[in-house]
Amino acid sequence: MTAANGPAGAGVLPDPAGRTARVAVVGSLNMDLVARVPRMPLPGETLAGQTFAQVPGGKGGNQAVAAARLGAQVSMIGRIGPDANGATLRAGLEREGIDCRALAATASAPTGVALILVDDDGRNSIVIVAGSNGELTPDDISGHEPVLAEAAVVVCQLETPPATVAATLAAARRLNKTVILNPAPVTGPLPAQWLPLIDYLIPNELEAATLTGLPIGSPQDALVAAQALVAQGARNVLITLGAAGVVAAFGGEPVHVPAPRVSAVDTTAAGDTFIGAFAAQLAHGASTDAALRFAQRAAAISVTRAGAQPSIPTRAELDAAVG
Ligand code: ADP
Repeated sequence: MTAANGPAGAGVLPDPAGRTARVAVVGSLNMDLVARVPRMPLPGETLAGQTFAQVPGGKGGNQAVAAARLGAQVSMIGRIGPDANGATLRAGLEREGIDCRALAATASAPTGVALILVDDDGRNSIVIVAGSNGELTPDDISGHEPVLAEAAVVVCQLETPPATVAATLAAARRLNKTVILNPAPVTGPLPAQWLPLIDYLIPNELEAATLTGLPIGSPQDALVAAQALVAQGARNVLITLGAAGVVAAFGGEPVHVPAPRVSAVDTTAAGDTFIGAFAAQLAHGASTDAALRFAQRAAAISVTRAGAQPSIPTRAELDAAVG
């Protein structure tokens, strides 16, 4: 596979196909405030938590970190607030070598936060306050068009306003980029005019069920949902199914690709690792099949470790894992 030939741990790898390996991520950055609790509190109740951690997150930030660790030169387009959380998030991305020149501070809203409770059964309850992520506008996208123009692959999610996602998809398509949309979180079908702008639509099984209105409880159900999305006009669809792997429709009949078997500890950010890895590989000119298998290996490693961004592996680790 194309991208397996570079030196391990070299950060940005030379692209054997001579293409650029730049990925632009347009999306959300949150500070995740995570408390462990024995059980979920009832309305009006005050409960003693067991531990607390403050961890950089947000789907956009996580996917940018994944693409960077897995070998792409990454630029982030997003908005942080004028506060300590914003400064911490920016510093974290810069430590990963991510280009943050298109990461603007907004004066009118705090940095996005996710309040996460995890109970003793491992279930979570999450409240996201979009804050500065809600202030990323279509004007930000047109203002940073040179950043999109430099990239081979443009990735976005739905944690920023729909008009901003629409502007990103339209600009990326006009610039002839490979466009990935992770439709998360999603509340219903996507606007029909978005589908022709997207090269790879990558929902998880719940999101695919919401997009299609079809129940998904098995890979067989996901094959049917992938077909439905293709019938709606999606070009290529990858439905991620956790430990069951991925159903992929690359232009033709959908196929089920099982995941590597691992002992999972924490599946947070598995999907974000998968998407960042897939984007990095496409930017290197890998085939869709090779990119899919690389992304599955990266996501499988991430679930064997705790946390969101801390669990995302590096390219060197992946190369070492295959010997
Ligand atoms: P999300 O985090 O968006 O819900 P998924 O849970 O579907 O996404 O996981 C994304 C990908 O991560 C899967 O398609 C699979 O490749 C990998 N993955 C997730 N959980 C496991 C697991 N328990 N074992 C192996 N791979 C996994």
